[in-house]
Amino acid sequence: MVEGLAQAEAAVLGCADSATWALPEQELIAALDAAHRIEQRLAAVKLAVIRELDGRGTPTAQGASSTAVWLRERLHLTVPTARRLVELATTLDTGNPAIRQALADADITVDQARVIADTVETVETSAGAEAADKAVGLLVEWAGQFDPTLLRKLGTRILDHVAPDIADAAAQAALDAEARRATRDRHLTLSTLTDGRLRLTGTLDTETAGLLRAAIDPLTTPTGPDDQRTPGQRRHDALADLCRLTLRTGELPEHGGDPAQLVITTSYDGLTRQLGTGTLDTGFELTPQNVRRLACDATILPTLLGTASQTLDVGRQRRLITGPLRRALVLRDRGCAFPGCDRPPRWCDAHHIRHWADGGTTSLTNAVLLCGHHHRHLHHSDWAVRLGGDGHPEFIPPAWLDPEQVPRRNHYHRRT
Ligand SMILES: [Zn+2]
Ligand SMILES: [Zn+2]
Repeated sequence: MVEGLAQAEAAVLGCADSATWALPEQELIAALDAAHRIEQRLAAVKLAVIRELDGRGTPTAQGASSTAVWLRERLHLTVPTARRLVELATTLDTGNPAIRQALADADITVDQARVIADTVETVETSAGAEAADKAVGLLVEWAGQFDPTLLRKLGTRILDHVAPDIADAAAQAALDAEARRATRDRHLTLSTLTDGRLRLTGTLDTETAGLLRAAIDPLTTPTGPDDQRTPGQRRHDALADLCRLTLRTGELPEHGGDPAQLVITTSYDGLTRQLGTGTLDTGFELTPQNVRRLACDATILPTLLGTASQTLDVGRQRRLITGPLRRALVLRDRGCAFPGCDRPPRWCDAHHIRHWADGGTTSLTNAVLLCGHHHRHLHHSDWAVRLGGDGHPEFIPPAWLDPEQVPRRNHYHRRT
């Protein structure tokens, strides 16, 4: 075998030197086909060798913890690649011999062999050996036309062809297995990064995926022509809106005796009316600018510390726009009051036109309803808001946007 491979190597080496630029197109295509065919045949040989070494226990006898680890060291492969090689070698050896033969004959590729082996195994468990044999023949034939992805897809309905009497029941069983796998594999990982941000990874089961979509999709549409956010940023903000809404309902189970809420500890200097940097109960810092915005609305309860760090909580309830006051605000603004925004009231924060930290009152004449996006926008941009002569909010654009700074209103919720 080594001698044969050495001859093949020498022949291949000769090809590597040939001037491809000088070849006519026809010949190049023929060369491509031949190179690909040899690659598959060679893969069959390599897999057979791996299987034999694995079966003899050579890798472990040489001190490796497994055949995959040994292959990684010897061939400088990644662990997943090495593991897949061992798996396929085993499957081809123990599975239907026709698959191994098809690979050796270069009728199928390595990736197609993997798909066929998986599919045939499923067929054998649900319909028996005879159906499995038929399935191999059919799949090898299809492999002449279809790539591995399509082949896998076609494979899911192969029973229609090889065992039609049990196809429907098997399809149902496959669907059940799929559902069980989805339930088992559901997870959500929240990893806190060093700067306090959070990386979300996870897989939601179909039902939860539907719930998330239903809840988040209406919130991810742009809020108007001024909305410059990317889709990813809009989904992010929608998740924040969702959490804010949920906290506002007050229906979450208590957490350590307190109602579920976001608590920010911050300092407040009564003389200069300055809010300091804030600390979330997770220990991470917020800028004074963000503290001001968050302290605007009832979903976040700021815990104020005086100069001697004693809690200055007096009048907290009065700072928050809740109950009858919020209802009056909803009646007046009917949704986010920012020009062009269509967000309904339930997605909105109550913004203090003059911040309570600056001595602003908590009253209808000092409040305006804003969606999460526009609340952020107002706090972090040069837009300004005031109540017009008729008691309805109007927004003054920054000079760079409109040199005349003509006040604008929201005509979506209230036509004038
Ligand atoms: Zn605000
Ligand atoms: Zn808005």
